[in-house]
Amino acid sequence: MTNNSFNEKFEEIYKQSAQAISIAPGRVNLIGEFTDYNNGFVLPCALEFATRILYKKREDNKVVVHSLHYPGEHDEFSIDGDITPGESQWGNYIRAVAFVFKRQGHQLCGLDLLIDSNVPQGSGLSSSAALEVSMGGIFNQACQLNLSGQAIALLGQEAENDFMDCQCGIMDQLVSANGKKGHALLMDCRSLETQSVSIPEDLSIVIVNSNYPRKLVDSEYNQRRIDCEEAASKMSVSSLRDATLDNLNAARSIMTDNEYKRAHHVITENHRVLNAVEALKNNNMKTLRELMTASHQSLKNDFEVTVPETDGLVQICQEALGTQGAVRMTGGGFGGAIVCLCRHDDIAKIKEAVEAQYHARFNIHASIYVGKAGDGLQVSEL
Ligand code: ADP
Ligand code: MG
Repeated sequence: MTNNSFNEKFEEIYKQSAQAISIAPGRVNLIGEFTDYNNGFVLPCALEFATRILYKKREDNKVVVHSLHYPGEHDEFSIDGDITPGESQWGNYIRAVAFVFKRQGHQLCGLDLLIDSNVPQGSGLSSSAALEVSMGGIFNQACQLNLSGQAIALLGQEAENDFMDCQCGIMDQLVSANGKKGHALLMDCRSLETQSVSIPEDLSIVIVNSNYPRKLVDSEYNQRRIDCEEAASKMSVSSLRDATLDNLNAARSIMTDNEYKRAHHVITENHRVLNAVEALKNNNMKTLRELMTASHQSLKNDFEVTVPETDGLVQICQEALGTQGAVRMTGGGFGGAIVCLCRHDDIAKIKEAVEAQYHARFNIHASIYVGKAGDGLQVSEL
């Protein structure tokens, strides 16, 4: 929707004009999977798909929110007193952000809000982080809190962890807050230091969602976390970030097979992230391909979070691109999406191959998104 008609929608609902707009993007992780909660490295980029929220401060202490995605449903709550979950599933994300800002002692104000987004929901591009960061940007601006992007990201993560009961790491919110157009963001998940890494002009980012319904994800996800913690403790390090392959092999006899394999993935994946940064800087497709292929194999064999559908999609896209592309699964696994880096001219090859083969093999349709690395959070007065 254009800015003009978005504004008109706001006026139609609230009978007055919005004063500012907050924009925060979804993301894709290029490499570094399941390394975040092991204090390691990740390399996501913010996308041009983004969640935009128009707002106007209110005279009273109410927050009223509508979303163009959920017409006919709205949420409203007071920022006085306790903020608790309401009836609206999506409205709870706004309550969650208000809750954590308030818990941190920030003075909030009443707001009229209208959400629009072209981040597909539940497709692995993190529409939830885009929503949290965009909302955090509004409280920051409207209530003059002077918070950094990193502080807003941490509050977004707390909102998701403590109010929405989803134990995600910091990656999604931090890249949504601090991403930079044309760049990926190398993130050290221990120090939260980031470094922008330029993505070569001629590289496209293609995301293919398997649309495989994710099942049993929470218990499997939690078990992997426990295995990683156990493996670290058996190597006497505080997190797998500090373990080497030598440590791992020395401790092999006291580890279960699963602990060994999970730790092997994390230790090797951290190396791959740092090598991928160099390969991106040098526009070295051969090395990127090797690293992303190795990442996928490690996620399949060591971390065991792929499914035949995502393995199949990776294979289809690898075959379509040959030496001219780098492909792997991305995100939390057990379904979800894959990411391909390729030259612009080769995007059509991915589309053709996926359309010709994926449904025939797995009886589900995939969704394809061609993304560009976009900017992180931006709030501007209108
Ligand atoms: P994702 O992988 O996209 O982050 P989640 O399940 O974590 O998937 O988050 C999706 C949820 O975020 C939606 O169910 C909805 O509650 C909320 N959400 C995302 N985008 C919007 C939007 N444009 N308007 C309202 N709610 C949204
Ligand atoms: Mg999410």
